Amino acid sequence: MQHYEILQQLLNYKSITPNDDFILNALQNMLTELGFASHILEFSDSKSSPVKNLYAKLGNGPENLCFAGHADVVPVGDVSKWKYDPFLGQIQDGIIYGRGAVDMKGAIAAFIHAVNKIKASEDLNVFKKHKAISLLITCDEEGDAINGTKPMLEWLDVKREKINMCIIGEPVSDAKVGDTIKIGARGSANFKLTVYGKQGHVAYNQFTCNPIPELAALIQHLYNHKIDRGSRLFEPSNLEFTSLGTSDSAENVIPYSAHAYFNVRFGEAHTAFSIKKELQKICEYFNIRFDLKCLSSSETFVSQHELVSQLASDSVAKVCGYTPCINTKGGTSDGRFIHQYCPVIELGLLSATAHQIDEHVSIEDLEKLSLIYQDIINTFLFGIDKKA
Ligand SMILES: [Zn+2]
Repeated sequence: MQHYEILQQLLNYKSITPNDDFILNALQNMLTELGFASHILEFSDSKSSPVKNLYAKLGNGPENLCFAGHADVVPVGDVSKWKYDPFLGQIQDGIIYGRGAVDMKGAIAAFIHAVNKIKASEDLNVFKKHKAISLLITCDEEGDAINGTKPMLEWLDVKREKINMCIIGEPVSDAKVGDTIKIGARGSANFKLTVYGKQGHVAYNQFTCNPIPELAALIQHLYNHKIDRGSRLFEPSNLEFTSLGTSDSAENVIPYSAHAYFNVRFGEAHTAFSIKKELQKICEYFNIRFDLKCLSSSETFVSQHELVSQLASDSVAKVCGYTPCINTKGGTSDGRFIHQYCPVIELGLLSATAHQIDEHVSIEDLEKLSLIYQDIINTFLFGIDKKA
């Protein structure tokens, strides 16, 4: 089966996070046919719905190269705005449309196709005693990420199942497939800022204190504040406001309080704690009654990536003729959990249409990524001289 045919099949499953719509069973069947031994595990907690996860492995050797990722997708938005049914896998002029085409069912299809092609040309029994390749696929990466990769890694650890290096197929490429390898991520912190005033009638404003203009001024100031200028591996830290509100919604009431939610993505010079301290200082300067709360956060990380990023860089250079840029740009991924166990990089399709209406990938790009993965697996299994 061709990579685009595998992708078309995967796109047919409405695996909107965290519902797997049986896509993991379909993947399990495909991988069983290729000789993989696999497990589907379900994790749950009191707060969120149960999540299914798949671990599949070929070979029993002590060195294990793992391809990690997610088969869940974000919701499609207004379906009437899509050119084609987002779960049909429609191909038009060499382009496949569908939710998850680049993020990241396309990469899963490219990886499975790569293994399939190697199997057609090599005796896979040769490496089974020395090496192993595996897949770790979750269905809640786009959601809470609580019952997915994290407990799967803990389960593998208990089983003493070791992963030596990991490639996540997230769509991190910028203009050309493979032009970017991501080796870490900025930290992320979500805040709520509340400014307090005195509630009252809009017609008797002399007896009130309106918190909205004060919040607006503070928003302006925080938005223009440069946290840092970035570093070699990290883009400058950035603060973005995401929503606003007040404690009262009546048209004739000056509210008691006004609040704003914002997110900060920060580089290696900071922690969520140091960011909060810095922003707190700015707010204090305004001499108003306020409260700044950090609601959730994750810290920066850089993987011990050298071996695996070298392996991947060489394959990109061989297949595409250019050298990837190594950085930490873009959003968070399950790499934040995996790097605690083994070196991890992200290498996948273009990010441009991820999470958008009419998400799509060209068959040409799919072919390129599959060839890159094929070369990586070949080099890992059989040595450096094997060509894709
Ligand atoms: Zn993704």
